[in-house]
Amino acid sequence: MGTFILVVGPSGSGKSALLGHLREQVPSIVFPRSCTTRTPRPGEVEGEKYFFVTKEEFERRQAAEEFLEWAPYGGSYYGTLRSEIIPALEAGKLVVREVEVQGARQLQDCIPEGVLKIIFIDAGSWEDLERRIRARAPIGEVELLARRKRYEDETSFKAQADIVVTNLDGGLEQAKRDFVAAVQKLSEE
Ligand code: 5GP
Repeated sequence: MGTFILVVGPSGSGKSALLGHLREQVPSIVFPRSCTTRTPRPGEVEGEKYFFVTKEEFERRQAAEEFLEWAPYGGSYYGTLRSEIIPALEAGKLVVREVEVQGARQLQDCIPEGVLKIIFIDAGSWEDLERRIRARAPIGEVELLARRKRYEDETSFKAQADIVVTNLDGGLEQAKRDFVAAVQKLSEE
C-alpha cells in the first residue's frame, strides 16, 4: 500500500498554492482529481484538479458508489473518486489531495490508519484569514459568516494532524519549503 496524504485547512489558508508548488517540485506524486458541481474559475482546466459535473451527474456517480467520500461545501458538492485513489495506493504510490474537513473525517473511516496521513495548514487567527479572504475577491457578510463557522470547524481538526504547516501573511516561501519537507517525511514513515 502507498500513502494517502490529506491536506486540510481553512479556506484562504493557501492549500492550493502549496499543492501547486508541490506539483512542480515532485512530479512523481499522484494528484487525484475530484468531482465538483461548482463552476470552473477562470484558468481552471477540466480534468486537472477537478472534473466539473452537473448536480445530476454528481448524483448518478453517488448512486453508483464512485465516491470514497462526498460533502457539500459553499453551495456545491465535492467528491473524492475511488478510481483516482485506490488503484494508485494499491500500486504503492504517494497520493496527495486537499479536502475540506467533513471529507477528511469520512476518509479517516475508510482508509487504513497507517496509509492515511494528515497535513494541516495553519493560516493564523480568523482575523488574519478574514483580511486575506477580503483581499482575494469581493465577499458578502452572510458568506463571510458562513466562512467563519467553517473556519472554526476546520481548525478543530488541527489536533488530528500528523504535521502542521504554518502559512502566515508574508510567509509563503517558508511554508512551501515546510510543506514539501512534511510530505517527504510522511511518505518515508
Ligand atoms: P475550491 O472550490 O476552493 O476548490 O474548494 C473548496 C473546498 O473543498 C476546499 O476546502 C477544498 O479543500 C475542498 N475539496 C476539494 N476537493 C474535495 C473533495 O474531493 N472532497 C471534499 N470533501 N472536499 C474537497
